[in-house]
Amino acid sequence: MIQIAQIKCRPDEGAEALRTKVCRILHLRREDDFSMQIRRKSVDARKKPDLFYVFTVDVMLNDPGLEQKILGRNRDRNVTRAQEVRYTLPSAGTGQVRKSERGGAASGISAENQNSSCREAIDESGEKLCGQMESLRPVIVGTGPAGLFCGLSLARSGLRPILIERGQSVLQRTESVARFWEGGRLNPESNVQFGEGGAGTFSDGKLNTGVKDAFGRIRFVLETFVEAGADPEILYSYKPHIGTDVLRGAVAHIRDEIIARGGEVRFSEKLISVKPAGKAAGRSDREIWEIVTERQQRDREPETLKTHLLTDVLVLAVGHSARDTFRMLYDTGLSMTSKAFAVGLRIQHPQGMIDRALYGAECPYEMPPAPYKLTHRLPDGRGVYSFCMCPGGYVVNASSEEGLLAVNGMSNHDRGSGFANSAIVVTVSPQDIRGYLSDIRKEHPDILSGNRPDPELFAGVEFQRRLERAAFLAGRGAIPVQTFGAYRESLRSPESMAEAEAWKTGPKFRGQYAAADVRSILPEQIAGAIEEGILAWDRQIHGFADPSALLAGVESRTSSPIRIERGEDLQALHFPGIYPCGEGAGYAGGITSAAVDGLRVAEVIAALER
Ligand code: FAD
Repeated sequence: MIQIAQIKCRPDEGAEALRTKVCRILHLRREDDFSMQIRRKSVDARKKPDLFYVFTVDVMLNDPGLEQKILGRNRDRNVTRAQEVRYTLPSAGTGQVRKSERGGAASGISAENQNSSCREAIDESGEKLCGQMESLRPVIVGTGPAGLFCGLSLARSGLRPILIERGQSVLQRTESVARFWEGGRLNPESNVQFGEGGAGTFSDGKLNTGVKDAFGRIRFVLETFVEAGADPEILYSYKPHIGTDVLRGAVAHIRDEIIARGGEVRFSEKLISVKPAGKAAGRSDREIWEIVTERQQRDREPETLKTHLLTDVLVLAVGHSARDTFRMLYDTGLSMTSKAFAVGLRIQHPQGMIDRALYGAECPYEMPPAPYKLTHRLPDGRGVYSFCMCPGGYVVNASSEEGLLAVNGMSNHDRGSGFANSAIVVTVSPQDIRGYLSDIRKEHPDILSGNRPDPELFAGVEFQRRLERAAFLAGRGAIPVQTFGAYRESLRSPESMAEAEAWKTGPKFRGQYAAADVRSILPEQIAGAIEEGILAWDRQIHGFADPSALLAGVESRTSSPIRIERGEDLQALHFPGIYPCGEGAGYAGGITSAAVDGLRVAEVIAALER
């Protein structure tokens, strides 16, 4: 197979033009039989108004002799032999893991335990009890991209995983989130952060990632989404995007396959405790864990049902918002550290303004809504940057705790809202947080004092909560919104209230919103950095700093403030058989990298000797 890079086509040129260019580059004749597949498509807008799509294509020639001949005489550095890496799961039970994952003791379970199944019973108090232990199945906590792809892999390896998810199935969740956005009560167990598909279900569904991939895992993730209903263009687009409306169906499709292969997916069921339950028979290195889950039946009587399960493989793919679960795992003794994360606001502009900046005012072509990525270095060396930009999207109320408010962005597949939004954020390190500690300590003496070995570990979480509480109060429960003009003057003026009325026909929110003093939500150092960044970016995107640009707060869930330590064998330190996974554990940032981490963990588990 031959690969050709850097083939430029005007946006109004079709597939035939691309084929003609391939023939010209490879000196093919009309009668030469070949097929081609696009590998990458990006936009080159450097010489506006001349715009190009730039393609990389793989060319399959039916005559292998001809391929040799072409490559033999080739002097064009854009023409090479195509290197295709196909993703494969390591053979189950071989004890062999990929080189990059080797490093710790990959242990297995005994044959006696392997062939049994965990039966549950319900005792008189309504507690489900694990009865006779007949088999141990892998348990995965969380059905975000990390848990879902880990589960899919294990199911395809024949390991029949049990997936436990505190939130609702995607259908029920979509309904309850819609009720919340229309002014109903927040369900703290099933919302934009929690539920089937995880935090990314109500998202823009950007699938690009910066992670390196020598094994074809990213391609596998994208192919799985395509099998599950996504547009095949995600396989080659330089910025693949799936969209909330399509992602919901894709998530349900993956879940159905896990179940069809013997897996189990339990919704509205939360992991509430983990404790050691002895060693696997004949394997002193193999720990058995007893986990307890609680079924939430909030929609009916406030009734809880406890279930006990035994397992020797527990994957913790709980995402970055499971603050109560982090706390429970910390109390269980899992080793954790605090890490840097970013906080800020979401900014919203008309999409046409962004398109003009990227494609030029006189762009004659119909182009997709343009994305942007902006960074600015402040005089003190800190950076302010745009994050999770959603072309043609909506700013959403992404809260998960009562009395607190966080925002994020989403879009549908068509990115057709007419408005662009992105987070404008500043990184806060654990050292920065220490600067806020004295205030936090006054508010939460229980969290930051006492006999914990690291009383500052949860300071990042409390800092996020503090900002979210301020946002909730500023907007009186609705998303607080302020024009950039008013923000610069710290005004929640009558003018901005009037503007708020006008916004109703314009900018796009999912959730109630209200005019407020958004600036007051953030520490002034961060608020000022955001202002400086926005002003600087006006030079790149004319109108970015327009006084009518809308700011909404607070963007606090950019990544996890905590990392659950794991060894090179991907197991939690000193907790054999427990696998911290995905974004919440601190090993991913975004849908695709979380899915890739889920695959890595599944590979290690599938390879365990049995
Ligand atoms: P999560 O997706 O957070 O999944 C964790 C799951 O675990 C949740 O479903 C949760 O309910 C469950 N859980 C937690 N605790 C328990 C417990 N105790 N018991 C049982 N279940 C539990 N990323 C992108 O790459 N592109 C985007 O366009 C994008 N847009 C986003 C838009 C929004 C509105 C949000 C909120 C996030 C967005 N993200 C985006 C980020 C992306 O969603 C996350 O990076 C990704 O979902 C992380 O995957 P994960 O599987 O590690 O965790």
